[in-house]
Amino acid sequence: MPMPSYQVFCSTKDCKNPAQYKIAAHWSDGVVAELKTYGLCCEECLPTGLQRGRDRQMACQLTPGETLEPPGIFLLQHGKRDQVLQRQTELEEQILSPQSHAKPPSREE
Ligand SMILES: [Zn+2]
Repeated sequence: MPMPSYQVFCSTKDCKNPAQYKIAAHWSDGVVAELKTYGLCCEECLPTGLQRGRDRQMACQLTPGETLEPPGIFLLQHGKRDQVLQRQTELEEQILSPQSHAKPPSREE
């Protein structure tokens, strides 16, 4: 076994899985920019976690000059700073557009 690193868990209530992803959004007030963390997720909870992050982002009151992007999925890596986490855009697309991996619509009038 390699050096034990601390284990982080999914932030979904009653979920005991280790967290693999971070739900976070880029925030800036024009001077400072940072990654705002909404939660940690295992693979199973990603759809709910992402949706919850998006709901919170929508409800967030911004002051003039502040920007907050819609939350995305970042691969959690121990010892890495937020700035270097890899964004999982393909996963986001799959979750946000469930039709994309179903068969294409062939409905005709
Ligand atoms: Zn979970």
